[in-house]
Amino acid sequence: MTPISKVTLDGRTFYIKRDDLYSKYLAGNKYRKLHSLLQTPSDTLNKVISYGGTQSNAMLSLASICHEKGWEFIYYTKELSQKLKEDSNGNFFYAKGLGLQHKEIQNDFYKNFISSLDLHVDDKTKIVHQGGADEDARAGLKVLAQEIREENLGCKSIATPSGTGTTALFLAIELPEYTVYTTPCVGDVEYLKEQMSALSVIPDNLIILEPKKKYHFAKPYSEFLNMYKKLLHVGIEFDLLYAPSMWECLLEQTDEEVIYVHSGGITGNKSMLKRYENKRIT
Ligand SMILES: *Cc1c(COP(=O)(O)O)cnc(C)c1O
Repeated sequence: MTPISKVTLDGRTFYIKRDDLYSKYLAGNKYRKLHSLLQTPSDTLNKVISYGGTQSNAMLSLASICHEKGWEFIYYTKELSQKLKEDSNGNFFYAKGLGLQHKEIQNDFYKNFISSLDLHVDDKTKIVHQGGADEDARAGLKVLAQEIREENLGCKSIATPSGTGTTALFLAIELPEYTVYTTPCVGDVEYLKEQMSALSVIPDNLIILEPKKKYHFAKPYSEFLNMYKKLLHVGIEFDLLYAPSMWECLLEQTDEEVIYVHSGGITGNKSMLKRYENKRIT
């Protein structure tokens, strides 16, 4: 059970569900989404295969679980620049330190290669698809929902930012008596709804807030850095890719007390802050 912190921001009370504190490398919503894998006995599997980008928080969380369980971890990416391969901080670097075996696939073959992954696995191998957007995630989010309910905070709104929307969607389904706010950090509202609809019918208590401006995922924005600093000032570090936009929407478009579910991702901040510095955004 992760703790709750109470903070005041712009004169409003927020409760922060500290899923960032579970462990250094396995934290945030990836910890929840990978709950089933974390519960799997070590002798059930000997290998996990996944794929995607090198900034991925899911990648790092998987590396951490495999390290702990003694499983091989194979991670496929498209071709990487030399600079990325040699980067000595950030999620990819940490994941390699935990045993991630990197395999690069030529860009032209990547898509076909990934869609054929499922065809050749034995029963000791688990494939985890990008972002962990699947039914497996539901079990862990059910546990999170129960923890929130048991806190009895007397506050009936929850917020958490979306990539695939898996976290916000299953949380809303598991907590019908709460309003769950989210915002799309990858793509627009329509794209988010499409992704969620592929998993389940979107319930009425899930409210998608639209950012006032179109942000491109993982790009540096001065308002994101300002929000990051403002949050750091009240004592909690959040990630620079998802959280700033969610907080901006919450502060501008809602006015009640809210439970913010910290989605993790702060291990990527060091390399992201370096990018802000290089771009002279302060
Ligand atoms: C993956 C991630 C999200 C998005 O989660 P989804 O379930 O894909 O919507 C949000 N915040 C952080 C820090 C993440 O790593």
